[in-house]
Amino acid sequence: MSQKLLEFVEAISRLVGRPDLSQTAVLAEASSWMRGLVAVDDWLPEAMAQPHPQFYQQHLLYGDPLDRFSLVSFVWGPGQATPVHDHTVWGVIGMLRGAEQEVPYEKGADGRVRQSGPSQTLMPGDVACVTPGNGDIHAVSNAVDGQVSISIHLYGGNIGKIRRSVYDLKANEVKPFISGYSNALCPNLWAREA
Ligand code: FE
Repeated sequence: MSQKLLEFVEAISRLVGRPDLSQTAVLAEASSWMRGLVAVDDWLPEAMAQPHPQFYQQHLLYGDPLDRFSLVSFVWGPGQATPVHDHTVWGVIGMLRGAEQEVPYEKGADGRVRQSGPSQTLMPGDVACVTPGNGDIHAVSNAVDGQVSISIHLYGGNIGKIRRSVYDLKANEVKPFISGYSNALCPNLWAREA
């Protein structure tokens, strides 16, 4: 593990071990560490930067053994995009390479999910957050034509095994899903069943 990645994982391990901190304080501190991690693109192992011709990749960089957090390298091939989805835990996203576009959604009083604001484009060095209950639903896509983009995602849980939702807006349907990890080996300690 590179020194930068190790220092980040150490810092976040200490951070999630502090029950005295509010979620707001945890997010502020985690965002600050994320800003440092993605400030210079010189540490991501090649194996964690590999795209797939068809699917965006979620390479697990580190999974906390107590499931308090997980760190994922999100690799976007050209034209790749997520469906509208939620997380149910806090998340901090740092743009490392290329660019991604995020469109925010929210569930209205009528139960329908609709776009809640303008899209934003993350450029290298930019950091954004998702939080449960408020700003937890979005759709993300590669914002660079014909190129690979990579963002680093830190989540306040083991995101690969959390039961969450994708939203089909046209059909007004909510579907449960568990994302797993693209690089999950078998047996994989971090991907164990919930
Ligand atoms: Fe997301």
